[in-house]
Amino acid sequence: MSNSRVVIVGGGVIGVCCAYHLVKQGIEVVVLERGEIGAGASYGSAGVIAPGHPPMNKPDRVKQALKRMFDSKTPLYIKPRFDPGLALWLLRFSANCTAGRLREGMRIIGPFGHATLPLFETLVQEEELDFGYQRNGYYEICRTEAGVEHAHNDVSLMRAQGYPAEALWENDLCNRFRSLQDGTLGGAYYPQAAMCNPHRFVMEMASCVKRYGGTFSLGQAATAIENRANDVTGVRTTAGDLIEADAVVLATGAYSLELSRALGCRLPIQPGKGYHRDLEISEGSAPMLEAPCVLGEASVFCTPMGGVLRLAGTMEFSGLNHTMRRPRLEQLTDSASEYLQEIGTGQMRSEWCGLRPVSSDGLPILGLIPARGRVFVATGHAMSGLTHGPVTGKLIAELVIGATPSLDIRALDPTRFMV
Ligand SMILES: Cc1cc2nc3c(=O)[nH]c(=O)nc-3n(C[C@H](O)[C@H](O)[C@H](O)COP(=O)(O)OP(=O)(O)OC[C@H]3O[C@@H](n4cnc5c(N)ncnc54)[C@H](O)[C@@H]3O)c2cc1C
Repeated sequence: MSNSRVVIVGGGVIGVCCAYHLVKQGIEVVVLERGEIGAGASYGSAGVIAPGHPPMNKPDRVKQALKRMFDSKTPLYIKPRFDPGLALWLLRFSANCTAGRLREGMRIIGPFGHATLPLFETLVQEEELDFGYQRNGYYEICRTEAGVEHAHNDVSLMRAQGYPAEALWENDLCNRFRSLQDGTLGGAYYPQAAMCNPHRFVMEMASCVKRYGGTFSLGQAATAIENRANDVTGVRTTAGDLIEADAVVLATGAYSLELSRALGCRLPIQPGKGYHRDLEISEGSAPMLEAPCVLGEASVFCTPMGGVLRLAGTMEFSGLNHTMRRPRLEQLTDSASEYLQEIGTGQMRSEWCGLRPVSSDGLPILGLIPARGRVFVATGHAMSGLTHGPVTGKLIAELVIGATPSLDIRALDPTRFMV
């Protein structure tokens, strides 16, 4: 399809990665973004490229959430309210929180990490993108026996997929990682991981797409996908324009519900709100860590990023909004000071929240929307959209050009929700 035009709706990490792999195939690409490039969930993530990490549907997830669902200071918070859509989604999600489904999820998603790392390396070495990429792994730090057991289970799951994750005990961690508070019991080291500035990554990818001839249409939202018989003709925008297209990729993240519903495909996506706080790395504010770490029980990532330590995490199901709840932000700094020395809020550089696209089975949704012509969807990346951005872009480009995908993604097809 060398003379075709593909419109990608959504200019987050997934949209720009799809655009890059398509322009590299010589395809004309337009990225349609209703706001600014990279201003959605991709803006303020923890910046950890964490290949091989298990998906979200851990067997103990629902139990934990139900036990503490009214407590807005826990890592996972469900705002109590009447919302039949959320109730149905939670039922589906809990049905997927079993050891068997987790193992199956690992089998499907495990190969993604092996495929995505070389793509990051290519972007740094061949495209010369500058986004603070560093291959230094990350640590998981736990303060309870249950936390250590959980981390060591993740290590086993990852090792079974060929990732060199290491189970650590208190001494191992204290010898390798300064700044720990007393009371650390153990955790893990994930040496295959990398870190970067996630917003710079999206912006560098967008510049690279432009260099290869891709274009961006900013400030207008897609309102409908137009068809003639079984062929896509284009994307209608809020300005009333029709951007002509032979194929469309929906990379609309947590906002995918409406457009996909209009296409007759109900994707079970819930916005999982996450927050960050950036603390300046200076005395009395935040220490300089030797590598990123995740505070196991609190699920807070701590990533040194330029001159700041980014504390990022929490998963809040409170609907499609950007309301910042103070207790959620406090949870980040409270947890950090419980696990790490020298955390203070004197020099706070920013606070932010963003909406992760979370599917009801914890896995991405990649593939063709049936009976709509060439409309593809690429969403549902939850906590791993940065990590899996490059490989997702490659797979979607393969689907769009009609090649056999380089990984088996049949289990990620949107039709899995249409039984
Ligand atoms: C606190 C936090 C920490 C995280 N940490 C990590 C991490 O360390 N590692 C990792 O791998 N992942 C992490 N993630 C997850 C990652 O950020 C997301 O999975 C990823 O950003 C999702 O990318 P996306 O492109 O699908 O969505 P988005 O970045 O939200 O992009 C979607 C875009 O679509 C646009 N859009 C929506 N509807 C329309 C429309 N109708 N017309 C035009 N445009 C539209 C939006 O404006 C938006 O820009 C984290 C997330 C959060 C919130």
